[in-house]
Amino acid sequence: MAQERVKELTHYIGGQDVSGKSGRFGDVFDPSTGQVTAKVPLASTDEVDAAVRSAKEAQRGWAATNPQRRARILGRFVNLANEHADEIAEALSREHGKTVPDSHGDLQRGLDVVEFAMGAPHLLKGEFSDSVGTGIDVYSMRQPLGVVAGITPFNFPAMIPLWKCGPAIAAGNAFILKPSERDPSVPLLLARLWKEAGLPDGIFNVVNGDKESVDALLDHPDIKAVGFVGSTPIAQSIYEHAARAGKRAQCFGGAKNHMIIMPDADLDQVADALIGAAFGSAGERCMAVSVAVPVGEETADALIEKLKERAADLRIGPSLEESSDFGPLVSAAAKERVENAIAEGVEQGADLILDGRSARVEGHDGGFFVGPTIFDRVTPDMNIYREEVFGPVLSVLRAADFEEALELPTKHEYGNGVAIFTRDGDTAREFSRRVEVGMIGVNVPIPVPIAYYTFGGWKASGFGDLNQHGPDAFRFYTKTKTVTQRWPSGIKEGASFVMPTGN
Ligand code: NAD
Repeated sequence: MAQERVKELTHYIGGQDVSGKSGRFGDVFDPSTGQVTAKVPLASTDEVDAAVRSAKEAQRGWAATNPQRRARILGRFVNLANEHADEIAEALSREHGKTVPDSHGDLQRGLDVVEFAMGAPHLLKGEFSDSVGTGIDVYSMRQPLGVVAGITPFNFPAMIPLWKCGPAIAAGNAFILKPSERDPSVPLLLARLWKEAGLPDGIFNVVNGDKESVDALLDHPDIKAVGFVGSTPIAQSIYEHAARAGKRAQCFGGAKNHMIIMPDADLDQVADALIGAAFGSAGERCMAVSVAVPVGEETADALIEKLKERAADLRIGPSLEESSDFGPLVSAAAKERVENAIAEGVEQGADLILDGRSARVEGHDGGFFVGPTIFDRVTPDMNIYREEVFGPVLSVLRAADFEEALELPTKHEYGNGVAIFTRDGDTAREFSRRVEVGMIGVNVPIPVPIAYYTFGGWKASGFGDLNQHGPDAFRFYTKTKTVTQRWPSGIKEGASFVMPTGN
């Protein structure tokens, strides 16, 4: 295969492309071929500081722009992103490895949140109480924080940056995105569309980088809030670092999402749902189902047969090829990590009924491919169950009854998503109420809530007290100010030395 030209990417600061000055670069790969396609600059502390200064200067004017005007710019951005959707999706697939239709979904779920954020004039409304005391009224207002940062993972390079910047910008903040260094091209495309939509320079910035740039953002006194999404160890350390630095933070981490299959479920529907949810995007979704829990031996045996049949028909291939059901993993390191996890599952005694390690894609020997992998008879003590694999690997744990099935996701360290498949409303309701997980699907395998609800996992899947998107996003990116007012006609003569009350 011919070597593609290696591009040098930039940062995007103050409304323009800015070349990296640190002298440090990271390699960006096409995971379908294993070839380096670009060099991404890794920002120094000084480059981060320059971006924050430019954002701070621009933010005052933006905060003073009325929210309806701000919302109109969001609307123009959504239209432009839709016009450029094919270009964005192709760039996304080239660097991430997911298929082009899946990349369109990545973009669309991000744009859904920008559309929701166009409701800023309504969402930013405060409260008002008339005559809470003699001549006294109280009202509250939501004000932007200032300059805020988003630090995002490789697996949704359009959706998650848009989940962060849409509400932040609509609320009147300036935003600095530190995207994943694995697939930085889509955030740069989005930056140029924000400018074309009329967003003032300095309100949306992209600073590419690694730990140095993240630390610089966390330590910068003018960064007021940090929204992070990525793996749990980094989420936890960023949450702690941000809190020490006195910043508002919400940090979302890894996952181990279960699907409970009750004996009354339609097993063909279940098998179709599981195949898509476990192997779509090569399992590199934080809401991917990586654990199937059939209840009863009969359910388990029948399910395994159906999974084997469907998995045998799956086509793995290059991300840009239309016939591919899913593409490669994002990097050689990810492939190695997933293959090691499979080897460990075998060593610890799980029953490997489909092994994706031998997957080969003709003409793409250097690609980071791992095929669909299924383990049966996995037990809760095995690493393949306890740890996030983040690849196309499905573990089947057989449960004897509903209570045993409910206990698995409830006791698991992670608590992002979970699904139950059943025809019985009482069982589904009981499960939804008792399970210790943040997002529940009833006969829905990947229950990513729609933009106007909130998204967030429990336990080790999320640190912080507000969720992403939906109304929580506006709470996170604004601070509330409460005004208690009285005018001269309501003021009694003389000083008072007691605590004012409503009595
Ligand atoms: P990652 O934790 O490796 O990286 C996430 C971000 O943190 C990137 O921008 C990266 O540059 C930065 N980073 C990495 N190491 C750092 C360090 N030591 N110090 C400071 N910053 C650092 O995650 P990833 O591999 O890009 O993404 C996959 C992970 O994200 C999975 O665990 C997945 O479950 C999780 N995820 C969670 C959600 C959610 O909403 N809960 C959504 C998507 C992905």
